[in-house]
Amino acid sequence: MTDVASRLADVDLRIGEAARAAGRDPGELTRIVVTKFHPASLVRELHALGARDVGENRQQELSSKSAETADLAGLTWHFIGQAQTNKARQIRRAARVVHSVDRERLVTALDAAAEPGEGALDVLVQINLTDDPGRGGVAPDDLEALAERVAAAETLRLRGVMAVAPLDEAPAAAFERLAGYAERVRAVVPEATWISAGMTADFAEAIACGATHLRIGSAITGPRPARA
Ligand SMILES: *Cc1c(COP(=O)(O)O)cnc(C)c1O
Repeated sequence: MTDVASRLADVDLRIGEAARAAGRDPGELTRIVVTKFHPASLVRELHALGARDVGENRQQELSSKSAETADLAGLTWHFIGQAQTNKARQIRRAARVVHSVDRERLVTALDAAAEPGEGALDVLVQINLTDDPGRGGVAPDDLEALAERVAAAETLRLRGVMAVAPLDEAPAAAFERLAGYAERVRAVVPEATWISAGMTADFAEAIACGATHLRIGSAITGPRPARA
């Protein structure tokens, strides 16, 4: 077994344990492997091991790696980083799911970037769980307005919410709040049932609080190499 294979198997074991401990079916969880800073060859290795969901947080890396791995069957790219509106077209070309929709201008840009006849793009509204506006995500007060804006965009499909745990708070407490925000979004769009939460350090807590999509990087890929 390679290092990546054994780390992937170990993480999946821990996901299964956390799900069972929370009385949940591990089969209802989507494990996204975050491959940022790693080469496309790692995406190939992961695909050969059965991974089908991969994530990137920078548009350029998303675009280049998705192009380099376009031959891999059944691969789904998730964009999880801060998105610039002038990159909406490239993001839309490369990703099937955008987790980080945090403002109305980005909704407009992603909607306008659709090609004629293209299927709807799955999007999640990213919520800021801190008081620091620099951390990314919509403020909870503005959540319903943003969800309504996504729901009204013809080429976007609102699937749920995404968040990153704050650095200065126990993740379980923050993810409890996220579960409440997710409920508020479901009051706007009942089908928006996804909760994207949980990274290497806190995926067990996220699973306990109802996460459906886990974004796990270094626990599977190993330490990130320095940026080229
Ligand atoms: C890098 C990243 C992750 C994965 O982080 P790890 O701690 O390596 O698991 C998850 N979500 C986002 C938004 C990220 O940027």
